[in-house]
Amino acid sequence: MEEERPNNFIRTFIDEDLASGRYVGVATRFPPEPNGYLHIGHAKSICLNFGLARDYSGHTNLRFDDTNPAKEETEYVDSIQEDVRWLGFSWDDRLYYASDYFGKLYECAERLIDTGWAYVCDLSPEEMRAHRGTLTEPGTDSPYRDRGAAESLDLFRRMRAGEFPEGSRSLRARIDMASPNMNMRDPAVYRIKKAEHHRTGAEWCIYPMYDYAHCVSDAIEGITHSICTLEFEDHRPLYDWFLEKLDWPQPRPRQIEFARLNLEYTMMSKRRLLQLVKEGLVEGWDDPRLPTIAAIRRRGFTPSSIRIFCERIGVAKKDSWIELEWLEKAARDDLNQEVKRVMAVLDPVKVELVNVPDDFRMTVEAPFFPDAPSRMGSRELVLTRELYIEREDFMVSPVPGFRRLSPGREARLRWATYVKCVSHETDAEGRVTLVRCELSDAPTTVDEKGRPARPNIIHWVSAPLSVPCVARVYDRLFKVPRPTGEDLASELNPASLVVRDGARLEPSAAGARPWARFQFERLGYFMVDPKSPAGGPPVFNRIVALKDGWKGGQAAQGGQGGRKGGM
Ligand code: ATP
Ligand code: MG
Repeated sequence: MEEERPNNFIRTFIDEDLASGRYVGVATRFPPEPNGYLHIGHAKSICLNFGLARDYSGHTNLRFDDTNPAKEETEYVDSIQEDVRWLGFSWDDRLYYASDYFGKLYECAERLIDTGWAYVCDLSPEEMRAHRGTLTEPGTDSPYRDRGAAESLDLFRRMRAGEFPEGSRSLRARIDMASPNMNMRDPAVYRIKKAEHHRTGAEWCIYPMYDYAHCVSDAIEGITHSICTLEFEDHRPLYDWFLEKLDWPQPRPRQIEFARLNLEYTMMSKRRLLQLVKEGLVEGWDDPRLPTIAAIRRRGFTPSSIRIFCERIGVAKKDSWIELEWLEKAARDDLNQEVKRVMAVLDPVKVELVNVPDDFRMTVEAPFFPDAPSRMGSRELVLTRELYIEREDFMVSPVPGFRRLSPGREARLRWATYVKCVSHETDAEGRVTLVRCELSDAPTTVDEKGRPARPNIIHWVSAPLSVPCVARVYDRLFKVPRPTGEDLASELNPASLVVRDGARLEPSAAGARPWARFQFERLGYFMVDPKSPAGGPPVFNRIVALKDGWKGGQAAQGGQGGRKGGM
């Protein structure tokens, strides 16, 4: 269920650019740095870049921004491709690496030296910083700023040949040390780094800086709209400067910035995510509590629900935080139409029907998709003398407003008939171990005003016919909406995972395979974990809770609505 796409300022820019004839088509790119797993913030960028190209009949390149040799790993390169594909997008055969352009970038750098727009500087990184000035004070020129092209070229070639140690020299753009924009104060173009690169090995010992590599890579690929996050807004003059000084042929790419996604109760920083994984605070990059795409996939979210989410939050020019409910709502709206409803009891308490024989069997037909029964067919549910119900659907001393089962009170079993509690047993700690009920075809009680009662509905499974399963009930990873990450231990939600390993599942879903999704009635949407161990009971991940229980009459049942879930 994809939605109508709202207009946004990026589309307006593109429309103008096409109307003015600046470009004849649209080419975008998604440029991840392969130094971590992608997260839902990247999904926003992916949906935006690939979505624009799709809507304008253009194309999108996948380009690994691998200009920083120290941090990159092939594991990330593979996972990123898997994630983009899973989101439903294709770069066809246009998979590129910034490192593909190292030769061309080097040539262009020599050209900048030749034309007087770059020089080799012998200041150390610390000295360069000291010369840079501040937001309120101009920088000071490097003593090497007037070095001639011939000498710079010679030194640059020797930098490349490995003659100088790291940090001893750099290539810098000759722009303006007094520019109010700090990015324009003779920024570094190349630095010495004696590190192996995951693709080029030991071929290079100088590496281009991001601001230089990115615009030239975009230009080489014929990108029209280079879409990036807001922190690059102040880098745009530099993006344009390099292409202008290289006299790059028109049309040159246009950089457009948008606000990055911040999602409440979770965290997008790759550094923090890495820390969570490395410190064992989560079970790995695909721990379903994380906002990584690998985790979101494993938890059970559908790719279309992520695309819907990204469409709905839209793009803006101003940073903001998005409430987690947006993601959960997108998931519910998508899954609602797609999955079968079945019954499972996560925290079972046994019910004995005292007024039926031991071999009692009552069979009822129940549709898998009650809103449109013909859509997904139906199954037979068998009521037996012993059942399981959810522990929280029975209260020995009901609190005000509790309207499910309690001593002397009645409830209706979903798809079946009525039960009234006649007695119960507890263990030494007062925990309920058995609820005894009488079964009846019609409600037998009246409410406070003497009208026939309309008992609330609870879900159930047959004790002998249900099968064991494990349910992992996930909640938000952090207990604070905007975690800083400075003290992870105090910000993490200790209840972000509750494992129900004694759960019971109705027999129709017994053979559910990994990736199978269901709605467990009244409990939420669940998917069989792809890592569910073969041979054991299936392990279900809760994707998202149900906001409203069942539609209509049941929606407002005491305590059932509004159960909050989270990432
Ligand atoms: P790093 O701190 O390593 O630079 P990054 O989050 O910027 O991390 P990249 O791999 O450079 O990661 O990002 C690839 C693309 O995804 C970039 O175009 C970036 O602008 C975009 N992106 C990253 N994080 C978000 C986010 N939270 N919301 C939207 N887009 C994002
Ligand atoms: Mg980045």
